[in-house]
Amino acid sequence: MSTSVVVLGGGIAGLVAARELTRHGIAVTLMEAKERLGGRVHTTREGSLPIELGAEFVHGRDPALLKTIRQAGLSLRSVPDRHQLFLAGKLQSVKLWERIDQIISRVNLRKPDQSFARFVTGQSLKELDRRLALDFVEGFDAADARHASIHALLQAQRAAERMQGDRQYRIEEGYSALVNFLAREIEAKGGKLLKGAQARHLRWKPGQVEVSVRQGRRLETHRGAAAIFTLPIGVWKAGTVAIDPPLKAKEEAVHEFAFGNVMKLIFVFRARWWPSISRFVHAPDEPLPTWWTDSRGPVLTGWVGGPRADALLASSPVKLRRLGLEILGRIFSDRASVIGKHLIAAHHRNWACDPHIRGAYSYIPVNGMDLPAMLAAPVKDTLFFAGEALVNDAQTGTVFGALESGLRAAREVLRLKHDSST
Ligand SMILES: Cc1cc2nc3c(=O)[nH]c(=O)nc-3n(C[C@H](O)[C@H](O)[C@H](O)COP(=O)(O)OP(=O)(O)OC[C@H]3O[C@@H](n4cnc5c(N)ncnc54)[C@H](O)[C@@H]3O)c2cc1C
Repeated sequence: MSTSVVVLGGGIAGLVAARELTRHGIAVTLMEAKERLGGRVHTTREGSLPIELGAEFVHGRDPALLKTIRQAGLSLRSVPDRHQLFLAGKLQSVKLWERIDQIISRVNLRKPDQSFARFVTGQSLKELDRRLALDFVEGFDAADARHASIHALLQAQRAAERMQGDRQYRIEEGYSALVNFLAREIEAKGGKLLKGAQARHLRWKPGQVEVSVRQGRRLETHRGAAAIFTLPIGVWKAGTVAIDPPLKAKEEAVHEFAFGNVMKLIFVFRARWWPSISRFVHAPDEPLPTWWTDSRGPVLTGWVGGPRADALLASSPVKLRRLGLEILGRIFSDRASVIGKHLIAAHHRNWACDPHIRGAYSYIPVNGMDLPAMLAAPVKDTLFFAGEALVNDAQTGTVFGALESGLRAAREVLRLKHDSST
């Protein structure tokens, strides 16, 4: 094959794929619709403090992600896995993972798949455990429990155990430092990174691709021997990029795939005013039920995922800020107006309204265990696919998954080059 590859999408999956290819001497042109790289990894700053509008945690110890962080010379700060529950006006410690794991471990893969909501209804559980489990699936997986597959949840849990998924870290310098490192590496090897370049049309035949791209007012065409497609499931579903000839089986699979929402509200205060609490506080009765601290600075972050996040997506920044302060007032028995006096800034990013993302991340619906592999399968040695949804072991919705998928797609291309030269 001629050695030129077009990569669609400049999130972690696309950047990692482009880096791997350029390291092996392949000419790469990566096109990213936004004016910045990183996609759902987006660190902004409040003074010198990194504020993560998208991905924040390094979940577990994925070898490829840890290696890339090491190569980038970045430091990891461990996040203690300590949780408290706020119920009936009181904060109390809770072993959250153990309780959730025990429930998910009851799933029997030999029985037919069903939704998590149905599964927990059929289990004999304390009411609180049922709520925590549902909140976990909706919050952590951005899923609607009425559609989320229990087979996928069990498989993801087992895979997480293998990679010490209960350990979590933050990148001290901010997640975007990893994006900047990948971009530097690609450009140093001659790769082209086009920003503000929205792919509109992908025409292909075996061994040849042609991508029409809108960059400002210009419409350009980029050609290559192969393309790696890494656009989010939400964008794929919307059909923003026309693929010609179309990939019928993949289109059907993408429409079945589920793509959830989250709302993440980040408060930066002048100084820490709250008493000592665990890293994570769960307040299941609140519209933003999960809150966490950040040891890098006086920050409290509120989070909700799944259908409860959908309900907040239309809220204005002022309304969200008021809501967040009221919830903190209830948790810490203080008045919202008093807490508000400590506030320097409130950040949130509505990923569902972003035309280039259209949601937060994907999850596997009932009977959908085959969907990631179906979407990831290359087409005629010419079209290759990556992204957070196209992962093994149902571990959708993570940076390490996006990274592993980008590496996998690049290696598929490299294998082809190797085969054609031997
Ligand atoms: C609020 C939030 C919090 C999260 N927290 C965590 C966390 O703590 N830990 C974790 O591991 N994961 C987390 N995630 C998930 C993680 O961010 C994603 O799984 C991962 O970053 C996805 O990478 P990707 O490359 O697959 O997709 P993306 O990052 O979405 O990259 C795809 C790129 O394609 C671009 N694009 C779209 N359309 C076009 C087009 N037509 N032409 C060209 N480019 C286009 C997009 O702009 C985007 O940059 C979080 C996600 C969100 C939204």
